[in-house]
Amino acid sequence: MNFKELKLNKPLLRAVAEKNYNAPTPVQEITIPLVLEGKDVIVSAQTGTGKTAAYALPILQRLFHKQESTKKGRKIKALVVCPTRELAIQIHENFLDYGTHASLITAVIYGGTAMEPQIAELRKGVDILVATPGRLLDLHKQDIVNLDYVETLVLDEADLMLDMGFVEDVKKIERLCPTGKQTLLFSATIPYKVVQLTNSILQNAIKIEISPTSLAAARVHQLLYYTPIHEKIQLCLHLLKHSIKGNVLIFRRTKYGVDKLEQSLLKNQYKVETLHGGKSQEERLEALNRFKNKEASILIATDVAARGIDIEQLDNVINFDLPNIPETYVHRIGRTGRAGQSGISYSLCAAEEKEYVASIQKLMQKQIVVVTDHPFPLDPTAKPMVHKKKGSKYRKGRKSEASKKKKKRWY
Ligand code: AMP
Repeated sequence: MNFKELKLNKPLLRAVAEKNYNAPTPVQEITIPLVLEGKDVIVSAQTGTGKTAAYALPILQRLFHKQESTKKGRKIKALVVCPTRELAIQIHENFLDYGTHASLITAVIYGGTAMEPQIAELRKGVDILVATPGRLLDLHKQDIVNLDYVETLVLDEADLMLDMGFVEDVKKIERLCPTGKQTLLFSATIPYKVVQLTNSILQNAIKIEISPTSLAAARVHQLLYYTPIHEKIQLCLHLLKHSIKGNVLIFRRTKYGVDKLEQSLLKNQYKVETLHGGKSQEERLEALNRFKNKEASILIATDVAARGIDIEQLDNVINFDLPNIPETYVHRIGRTGRAGQSGISYSLCAAEEKEYVASIQKLMQKQIVVVTDHPFPLDPTAKPMVHKKKGSKYRKGRKSEASKKKKKRWY
């Protein structure tokens, strides 16, 4: 299928061609016609599947004939709500790209930054607004944002939005928009919380599922390294030096873990950028831009900070800590191997994390290739470190020969 068959108009086809998109992705093929018809949809698709264009293109097309000659007096006709500032900025940029040959006006608002420039932008008149929930409600309360004319409401990354505690905000925003609007919900996963939300606001929606698991499993060459927890940094350095080519996104579970690894890599003369919730929005954006501009080839991030962030041409992912939720693993490795390219994921697994591998493999219905030929192997008989009751120290598992030499626990 090509984009013409999706009945997109010429200015949009031109914009898509300028982005060098040859053909629609599966989520675009299914979703675009339904959105053009005005249907409500619930789409299970993660970042990397092309989901932003799946709603942005038909929204722009539906608003085309409503373009106004003057800026002033424009009403918000499409509203996209998403959980994080980075994602909001990215979605806004996508709308600007796809709408480059239209005279529709898109704006973005998010918290953690001054309101005045955003207010000034809104006062000029906006057709499409991308927003994070808190700032949107704030500005609505101040009568700066008027949602009375919204025709299409998009809830993007709904699962993360609910995980971040925005459920009441999302419901409120939905109620503030007119009852007859079209609603489009996109979510990487559809956990019970999302089902509850859709049951209350989207009873007649069409459900579309784009399996991220099979997409990621097919495109990404996945490697698994068993190693003691205190050898992970050494193994990571070894992989960076001997195996990894191109850029790499390293996932750590905590902000503390991100900082710790950053220090070790800096000491070894690597240029590193980091993303975690402890950084200001400006710092996060700058870090991301430096990585995207190839000023640094290593980015270390927590799952939440990196969620939804699109990095074109990411060559490698390292799961420094294995996630306990198998879907998170799929999201992480799905950052590489996008748009038909291949990518490599390296997962470092300590004795404590072995059980996570089992559930990841079960979800993927695929065994991950285990690399045994490396200098920091895990003793196969090693037991996980277990927390004893209050006041006691960790009970340690047996260590490998290499690790016996080291006294210091790094983690
Ligand atoms: P998204 O899932 O919306 O974050 O998109 C992921 C990446 O895929 C972005 O870099 C898009 O520019 C790119 N993309 C979206 N649609 C297509 C397409 N039809 N062909 C090639 N790349 C695409």
